[in-house]
Amino acid sequence: MMQRAMLPAISTRLLSTALLLLLIPAIALAEPSTEWSLVPAPSAGPARVIGGVAHGCLAGAVRLPDDGPGYQVIRLSRRRDFGHPDLVAFVARLARQAQAAGLAPFYVGDMAQPRGGPLPFGHASHQTGLDVDIWFNLDPKPPLPPAARENVALPSMLRAGLRDIDRRRFGPRQVTLLRLAAADPAVDRIFVNAAIKDALCRGVAGAASGGRDWLRRIRPWWGHDEHFHVRLNCPANSPDCATQAPLPPGDGCDATLAWWRAQKPPLHAAVAPRPPAPKLPAACSAILAAPPA
Ligand SMILES: [Zn+2]
Repeated sequence: MMQRAMLPAISTRLLSTALLLLLIPAIALAEPSTEWSLVPAPSAGPARVIGGVAHGCLAGAVRLPDDGPGYQVIRLSRRRDFGHPDLVAFVARLARQAQAAGLAPFYVGDMAQPRGGPLPFGHASHQTGLDVDIWFNLDPKPPLPPAARENVALPSMLRAGLRDIDRRRFGPRQVTLLRLAAADPAVDRIFVNAAIKDALCRGVAGAASGGRDWLRRIRPWWGHDEHFHVRLNCPANSPDCATQAPLPPGDGCDATLAWWRAQKPPLHAAVAPRPPAPKLPAACSAILAAPPA
């Protein structure tokens, strides 16, 4: 009797322990950011950016089509291909310009979730539909079916040790693409790995020919050795969009860059030190709850 009574008790305990172990990853993921990643569609109404790139959200987002002249969106399952209409227009514009310059299509990575907001993994920013990751891989590429876009070749532009560019990968094509992006009036700044910025400052692949002014918008950051990150200016009609501190004058080939070059790169180049997430602006709750477009 006792034995029989104990058995179910033990199995129940084992079962609940097993369940708990299974649930731990889910519990770890159940941060506030999850609700933003699960919302299926943009909110209705005009496009509006609220807050800053690392503590904000977005109303009236639009989705970048999976393909266009000069680009392909990858990792479609993430559903981070939404942005402010300015961002969608920027990507299409850059892709057309790159194509006209004779470049192969580029891959477009993360933009924002349908209503922006914090992402459960991968970035602190990308919250307001003004950020886009564009991959440096400019090798010729066939149009890929969606499933094949989950795992494409995204090589680093750096040599082993992450201190210098790999000239077999990073050359005139990448410089042309960066130059086109930096010349776009909608762009506020572009993040690349400090070793890439350093190479541009040294004039690699003609980077300094015809003037160095464009280098000002190219800023060093952790990671960003396989892709560059374009951030747009706050759009018109978004009075609640928090503008970033303006870029310092000069081409940035200065003490700031020297500081970055002196840092020991994180073990994984894509991992940046991440400050605790600030609270979202109150207006974002309404955007999360708003009816879909
Ligand atoms: Zn990014």
